[in-house]
Amino acid sequence: MSTVEIKNLHKSFGRLEVLKGIDFTVDSGQVVCVIGPSGSGKSTLLRCVNLLEQPTSGQVFVDGVELTDPDVDIDAARRRIGMVFQQFNLFSHLTVLRNVTIAQERVLKRSRAEAERIARENLAKVGVAEKADAYPAQLSGGQQQRVAIARALAMNPSLMLFDEPTSALDPELVGDVLTVMRRLAEDGMTMLVVTHEMSFAREVADRVVFMDGGVIVEDGPPKQVIGAPQHERTRTFLRRVL
Ligand code: ADP
Ligand code: MG
Repeated sequence: MSTVEIKNLHKSFGRLEVLKGIDFTVDSGQVVCVIGPSGSGKSTLLRCVNLLEQPTSGQVFVDGVELTDPDVDIDAARRRIGMVFQQFNLFSHLTVLRNVTIAQERVLKRSRAEAERIARENLAKVGVAEKADAYPAQLSGGQQQRVAIARALAMNPSLMLFDEPTSALDPELVGDVLTVMRRLAEDGMTMLVVTHEMSFAREVADRVVFMDGGVIVEDGPPKQVIGAPQHERTRTFLRRVL
């Protein structure tokens, strides 16, 4: 069963064609890492998966629901998709706990008590339970990113999208976030992860997708795409990042 299915996806910004016909799937429980040079369209692809960007043409299915169908209930469909950005996007004027409860109450209509229980569970899962009453500015970048992950998980997503979740972190804080993501993967979460962390991709991904210039150049198990790339473009990119 595919959680994500993308068919012939195109996206242009004005005359700039950023995605030039993307096809791929993420099966339920799989972790797919997307790698590629800056400007190759990775973020745009991720943003098309939850329709933060409207594709120019092509189809996006999540859990069998076509998000690109103009008649779809996009808010309902998006509820199943968690997204974690490079910048954590926490509400700076709200406590950690409130950051994790607010969408549960407003979108899922959970009671305050239930939302707080679920928030505390997820904060514990990502290792920041003791920060519930702190404000984001009082946390390290790694802790803030883990709160952002907890906030997404509290919505019970069937799919998690990560866009370079460790790129804004000081090097010594990257490991804690990757550990949380690794644990999520082990728990069977379906994940689509844009990352430059090649060791994470190698160890955790079921598949690695290499993008360049708005197309998928290679798609396969990490052993193949990172370990024995078939294309010169992939080899050139890997030489630069490994
Ligand atoms: P990546 O994440 O791989 O670095 P992006 O998807 O962010 O690549 O960007 C791909 C290309 O699309 C870049 O040339 C970028 O400048 C352009 N782009 C991205 N978003 C927009 C936008 N909202 N308007 C115009 N151009 C954009
Ligand atoms: Mg990007």
